[in-house]
Amino acid sequence: MLADLQQLALAAAPQEICGILFGRDGRVSARRAAKNVADDPLRHFEIDPRTLIAAEREQRNGGERILGYYHSHPNGPVKPSTTDAESAAPDGRLWLIVNGQDAAAWHTAKNGEIYGRFDAITLDCFGAKGQTAAEWKS
Ligand SMILES: [Zn+2]
Repeated sequence: MLADLQQLALAAAPQEICGILFGRDGRVSARRAAKNVADDPLRHFEIDPRTLIAAEREQRNGGERILGYYHSHPNGPVKPSTTDAESAAPDGRLWLIVNGQDAAAWHTAKNGEIYGRFDAITLDCFGAKGQTAAEWKS
């Protein structure tokens, strides 16, 4: 559930949490926590590559499909940062950003409206419709 993720984000603050989202057709059905291996986990996140590689391998072998990633902004709005934009591949995957109160979802794209990399999308997470990210469109 989204609320669980927000609780985890609160509990881990001021560190950023991160993980992988599974599902299809823009709908998140499961998540898997990953270690944040960023040099400065208070300001950035980097999903443990071992978790990512394992998930990619499982997908190739018929496991759950990787829909995208989540991470938290413990002290800020749930809008992608410029660092997020720099580290995001324009692969169409979903980025979910949460803090203790809010959540928003974004698609990575080649010419996204946010920092040239993200497009806001309606959040449809774990079966619960959330808020849209439209208000953060710049
Ligand atoms: Zn971020």
